[in-house]
Amino acid sequence: MKAERNLQILLGDATLSGELKDIAQKVQNGVRISFEEGVLLYERADLPYLGVLANYIRENRHGDKTYFNRNFHIEPTNLCVYDCKFCSYSRLIKERSEGWELSMEDMLDIVKKYDDQPVTEVHIVGGVLPQYDVKFYAELFTAIRKHRPELHVKALTPVEYHYIFKKAKLDYATGMKVMKEAGLQSIPGGGAEIFHPEVREKIARDKCTGEQWLQIHEEWHKLGMRSNATMLYGHIEEYKHRVDHMEKLRELQDRTGGFQTFIPLKFRNQDNQMSHIPEVSVIEDLRNYAISRIYLDNFDHIKAYWAMISRNTAQLSLNFGVDDIDGTLDDTTKIYSMAGAEEQHPAMSTQQLVELIKHVGRHPIERDTLYGVVTDFENYVFPEEVKPRFYKLPVINESSVETN
Ligand code: SF4
Repeated sequence: MKAERNLQILLGDATLSGELKDIAQKVQNGVRISFEEGVLLYERADLPYLGVLANYIRENRHGDKTYFNRNFHIEPTNLCVYDCKFCSYSRLIKERSEGWELSMEDMLDIVKKYDDQPVTEVHIVGGVLPQYDVKFYAELFTAIRKHRPELHVKALTPVEYHYIFKKAKLDYATGMKVMKEAGLQSIPGGGAEIFHPEVREKIARDKCTGEQWLQIHEEWHKLGMRSNATMLYGHIEEYKHRVDHMEKLRELQDRTGGFQTFIPLKFRNQDNQMSHIPEVSVIEDLRNYAISRIYLDNFDHIKAYWAMISRNTAQLSLNFGVDDIDGTLDDTTKIYSMAGAEEQHPAMSTQQLVELIKHVGRHPIERDTLYGVVTDFENYVFPEEVKPRFYKLPVINESSVETN
């Protein structure tokens, strides 16, 4: 295996420091790295080194398999009672004229629009408003499941759950049970930002704390259900805050095993209260994916949102620990585009996603939300591919150019 050979070459590198060699040996032996070693990786490890380790772990777990799903988003509102400094998406209630508020019927109409399409998941997340309460969401989940039972409902983050349970005077355990009974099937990873209060207090002061975020996921896991986790990086946090964030996730995962996927989210600086902070480089994005893969040894998957980081970076990330690039989206989310992502109308056909993965030598697999295989695209031929081509590029010098 190439990843194994690259790790051997790295371990034989006489110029590698003792500390980095120790970490590489731990990775080879499947031994967990410590908090201090996580910080050391951020401070000292270069991209090629991190790529070798992260790709070794990625290929040991998944080989070349790279996952995506067919999904669409519903964003009930972009109005929000909170005022997170990094948020480009929300409009405060006083700016209502710039916002949208979908009714139950609006949302069910969106679901019905996909009736004849082979999507497997609806992802519901947006701002926080008082009218979207426990009763509203319970009815929405039930109505979606009744209309299309096989469509997986992945919805809301602990930010919403904390708010609506508090209003309804429900503790987290009871609240999550109510949601499960209403038809909720999994929780996306949002709202995590950076758990450490030194940072969270400054960028997302009023919403649920890091501890509350973790407690809500824990209660959900106790019901035998699965969820994802994110980390918003590249703003005012220090490396130690990133490692602290991952450490807390790793601890909870040790206890419950309920997380499926870790999704690093890059801070984008368009049109928000932190616009003065420059965005980190693509190199830092890739380093961060790689360190996540190395640190979170009990997470099965590391995901890159192609809509957030661009298609090219998503392709690159597949060599730095990432094994999932999210879904087709169908231009149904504004969260990334409003924050300044390159993709202003994020949508990819299944064929485009498959080709994007194949072009970097990986093996595309359409998954459902719980990573069941829907279609293995390794040898799949799309109808368009077998159509004959009716033109040839002009050849300038027949004698020096080989054609076929
Ligand atoms: S990040 Fe979420 S909770 Fe914070 S202001 Fe934006 S929509 Fe509201």
